[in-house]
Amino acid sequence: MYYQKTVNETLKLCHSSIYGLSSQDVKLHQEKYGKNVLLKQKNESPIKIFIDQFKDLLVIILIISAIISGLSGQFESTIVIIVVIVMNAILGTHQTIKAQKSLDSLKKLSLPQVKVLRDQTLQMIPGDELTIGDIVQIEAGDVISGDGRIIEASSLQTNESALTGETESIDKQCHPLSKETMISNQNNMVFSGSLVTNGTGRYVVTSIGMNSELGKIAQLLNDTQERKTPLQQNLDQFSGQLSIIIIIISILVLFLNIFLAKQKPLDAFMIAVALAVAAIPEALSSIVTIVLSLSTQKMAKEHAIIKNLSAVESLGCISVICSDKTGTLTQNKMTVQNIYFYDQLYHYQDLNKEKHDHLTLLKTCSLCNNASINNQQRIGDPTELALLDLVNYHHFPTLSHLNELPFDSTRKMMSVLSKNHLYSKGAPDVILQKCQTILIHGKKEKLTHFHKQTILKQNQTLASQGLRVLAFAYRPCTSFGLTVEDENQLTFIGLVSLMDPPRHESPLAVKACRQASIKPVMITGDHIVTAKSIALQIGIYQDGDLCLEGEQLNHISDQELETILPKVSVYARVAPEHKIRIVKLWQKQGAIVAMTGDGVNDAPALKQSDIGVAMGITGSEVSKDAANMILTDDNFSTIVKAVIIGRNVYRNIKNAIHYLLSGNFAGILCVLMTSLFFLPTPFYPVHLLFMNLITDSLPAIAIGMEKIKEDVLNDPPRHKNNHILNQTSLNEILVDGTIIAFCTMIAYYVGLRYDALTAATFAFATICLSRLLHGFSCRSNQPIYRIGITSNISSILAFFVGFGLLHLIFYIPFLQDLFMITSLSLSKLIMIYTFSLLSFVLIQFKKIIVKQ
Ligand code: ATP
Repeated sequence: MYYQKTVNETLKLCHSSIYGLSSQDVKLHQEKYGKNVLLKQKNESPIKIFIDQFKDLLVIILIISAIISGLSGQFESTIVIIVVIVMNAILGTHQTIKAQKSLDSLKKLSLPQVKVLRDQTLQMIPGDELTIGDIVQIEAGDVISGDGRIIEASSLQTNESALTGETESIDKQCHPLSKETMISNQNNMVFSGSLVTNGTGRYVVTSIGMNSELGKIAQLLNDTQERKTPLQQNLDQFSGQLSIIIIIISILVLFLNIFLAKQKPLDAFMIAVALAVAAIPEALSSIVTIVLSLSTQKMAKEHAIIKNLSAVESLGCISVICSDKTGTLTQNKMTVQNIYFYDQLYHYQDLNKEKHDHLTLLKTCSLCNNASINNQQRIGDPTELALLDLVNYHHFPTLSHLNELPFDSTRKMMSVLSKNHLYSKGAPDVILQKCQTILIHGKKEKLTHFHKQTILKQNQTLASQGLRVLAFAYRPCTSFGLTVEDENQLTFIGLVSLMDPPRHESPLAVKACRQASIKPVMITGDHIVTAKSIALQIGIYQDGDLCLEGEQLNHISDQELETILPKVSVYARVAPEHKIRIVKLWQKQGAIVAMTGDGVNDAPALKQSDIGVAMGITGSEVSKDAANMILTDDNFSTIVKAVIIGRNVYRNIKNAIHYLLSGNFAGILCVLMTSLFFLPTPFYPVHLLFMNLITDSLPAIAIGMEKIKEDVLNDPPRHKNNHILNQTSLNEILVDGTIIAFCTMIAYYVGLRYDALTAATFAFATICLSRLLHGFSCRSNQPIYRIGITSNISSILAFFVGFGLLHLIFYIPFLQDLFMITSLSLSKLIMIYTFSLLSFVLIQFKKIIVKQ
């Protein structure tokens, strides 16, 4: 049991040392122990997916009708129905697998990264490459990868709820335990899947993959099941209700035809089946899944990784974006600008190591630092990396500390112990409160009120230039086990200002937000003056807006805050718990809120928001775990791009649904009209089957892939509870369906002058072509000449595939027989083209009249 062994014994057992493994060891260990992966829940097999395609009401009706046709001797009909059902199932299987693959590749992108010591340098590696004996460095916000024995711990706490269900954080240490004990008491071990909630530390990996404690229960963790999105649920419900109504109508039509029209029962049955097939919108939900999952690929290309499909839908509804400043709106490329010692400001290059206060500052910068710079990588917090650059610039050595009180965004400072001194750095307002003396020209003096005012004024001046300011202090200290009580009676050394310029894209992205009626809000841990200056530069802060500090938030009630909420564009010096309050109040006002976060304490706010956004580069693993979306470039403008894609996706899905339903409605109208007038059936079930299951799906997917258009920014955000099928869209579906049915009926009527077979052929060909052409009309609510026919290649391809298949049926005698159609002369073909084009022109004409 590793927890009963000393650190040295454990290292020996794992064939490692405190300096970590060498590249050769890593290779050997990886060959011996394999990859650090949990045997994941396998995706459903293609065969199972294929079989699932038959568990559908429509397909069951069709199978019954195929059997009845077969029994009554109409074998052609049976064959066609079966072929079409199988083709549909193959298409459905292919699309489901494609959607699954795109989700799987997204999951891979969000794999956690681990900091390990290999070849004596700190390296970032993907979690699955971890092996036994690796030394892993951890800090608050990390997710533990592999199980391990702790070899170093400073205020280290972890949350093991994923494993034990215990929600309280557990204090960790590195001494061996004497007795055998259960996992929850093994406080010198860390376990895969748990979260580091506080402190820093190192552990040596003792087991990985399926041998870790998490691996042992992995079979129980069945979280791979994607839940349906609200839109899918909505549409499933809608399709279900519609199907019931349609089946009732079909049964009525069946009896009408048998008892009133005195048709043969088999013919009447076939008409009823035709009606059901024509009307049941079976492709709706699967089209939504396909379009949503394809859009996640698009978003990934734009640097936004979506973790669940529901988020794509919610993105289009966002009305408020609450964003961090550092790294999201700014470049997170910190560089030290000035250094202030009482009472003089220096350019960073002008430090003089001969001077005691200058030297003490460099020493503090080097000690209060967890960043590392080596040939290949710069690892760590950009603020600390910038301080390390300063240290290196002045050829000062990189020093290591004994013990640490780590930085967290609530305390806004950190301290370390080295030899017999404690060194601190942090926000000037926080550090100054803890100082009693000040270093002036190398001598300690009592810190007076006047000194404090002068320093704070200097802080204000630097902050108003948009600079981040840190204060440095120290004191003699001998207690090894550091506590926050030790961070008192400090001696103030100086201030360091760092520049982190706004990202070039930020002002444009903020402008796009305003155009899209989305309120951008900055929520930062930084100083109010720095925050306001940056917010002004990028346009988040406008005349008349308010800026609030965390401290002020503590003193105003929810009611008061609610009244000023829309006016506040900058929150500064906030603690993570303020973020939840801001999100909740916005949500209370009906807003749909996206909230960014990077720290370990941001997880609750990310979960509370409608879209939690984590930072892929600088964000903690915990925040990535809690988020719905991860930005691989940490960039605010990516959120706006994702919103634009989200809005477009919703619009495209709406258009695809419009396409499917209006085509179905046209089919129903034709069947109903002919049976009301006791005319021969215009379509045989195979015709409707062919249309609904084969020619319809491709144009619908093509509409779903319509290009991203920026004009969605001109609309206000969609209301979350708006049904995708509102009265206006239902009306449009009815009108378009009626136009297509009207043209089909003219064709049918013309065909009837020859014979019933020609009438059915005319009706089938016209409705098929009209629906294929309708695929172009449904791409947008604009007339086709505005969007350009060639601007969606998929839609042209979908048309020609349908067109080609249709003509195969027209001209291959065997298919002609199967589909029960008559051969078409050129003049008849031209008639069919004319009627189909007529429907297209009428619908386009309607668009022009309605829009202008
Ligand atoms: P945002 O919330 O927009 O990311 P931020 O990075 O400034 O902004 P925090 O990381 O919470 O927010 O930092 C709050 C304050 O703590 C900073 O303004 C700075 O004064 C101080 N600070 C930041 N990083 C460190 C650090 N590594 N060590 C000590 N103090 C720090």
